[in-house]
Amino acid sequence: MPELPEVETTLRGIEPMLSGRRIDAVTVRNAALRWPIPAEIARAEGQRVLGCRRRAKYLLVELESGGLLMHLGMSGSLRVCDADDAPRKHDHFDLVLDSGRCIRFNDPRRFGALLWWEANPEDHVLLHGLGPEPLSGQFSGGHLWRLSRGRKGAVKNFVMDGHVVVGVGNIYASEALFMAGIHPARPAGRIAAARYDALAAAIRDVLERAIRHGGTTLRDFVNSEGNPGYFAQELLVYEREGNPCFQCSVPIRRRVIGQRSSYFCPRCQR
Ligand SMILES: [Zn+2]
Repeated sequence: MPELPEVETTLRGIEPMLSGRRIDAVTVRNAALRWPIPAEIARAEGQRVLGCRRRAKYLLVELESGGLLMHLGMSGSLRVCDADDAPRKHDHFDLVLDSGRCIRFNDPRRFGALLWWEANPEDHVLLHGLGPEPLSGQFSGGHLWRLSRGRKGAVKNFVMDGHVVVGVGNIYASEALFMAGIHPARPAGRIAAARYDALAAAIRDVLERAIRHGGTTLRDFVNSEGNPGYFAQELLVYEREGNPCFQCSVPIRRRVIGQRSSYFCPRCQR
C-alpha cells in the first residue's frame, strides 16, 4: 500500500510535468473508484495548473479555479506517458496536458480517488481535522506528549491516528517505535515527554530516509514503463519476526495491536 513516502515520491515525479501546464482533457475510463469520479471533474479542462502539493496521503493539484484531489488508495499509482500511448488494464483516468504528455492513474483494486475541490482543499471533508504533517514544524515530541495525556490506548495506534499526526502507516510506526526504544503496546498516556521527543525524531528520520530512497528511483518513475517509484528500504523490525534484533540479537516478535501486525524487540523496547 502506498504510504506517505511513496505519495511524496509520486508528487515529486508528477509536479514538474504538471506545473504551468494546461489540462486539455480529463479522460475517465472507469469512474467507479472508491468514490465515483464526479462529473464536475470536467471543470479542470482548459485550466492551467498553478501547483501541486501533498497533504497526508492526498495529492492536491491547484488550478486557476478549484482543483483536483487524488488518492492512491491501496494499489494505485500515477505514471507519466504520452497521451496517445494505449491504455493498459486498470488505467482508470488520464489528465491530458497541453504538452502532449499525460498523467495516467492505474489501480487494480480501485480504492483510489479523483475528486474535485472548489475553494479551499483544507475544507474538504477528507482533509478537515487532520493532524499536522510529520515533516513540518508543527509536529514535535511536545505535540505527541500533550495529545497523549489521559490516553490508555497503545502508543502504536496513537501515532497511526491521522488526527494526531498524518502519514505514519504501519511499517513506519513499527520502525520508529523500535528506533525510540518504545514498546508498541505501551499506553500512550504513560510515556514521558523526553521519550516522545525521541519518537518524534524517529518518525521524522524514518520517513525522510524512505523519501530519499524513493527519490533514487524518481527517474524511473518519470520515464515510467508502469512501475512507480516504490523503494525497498532496509527495515529494522517490520516483517522480521523470529530474526535477530540488529541491536541485541534477541528474536524480533510479532503481535497484533489494533488489528495490525506489530513487530518489536522484546528487549530493546519498553
Ligand atoms: Zn533488541
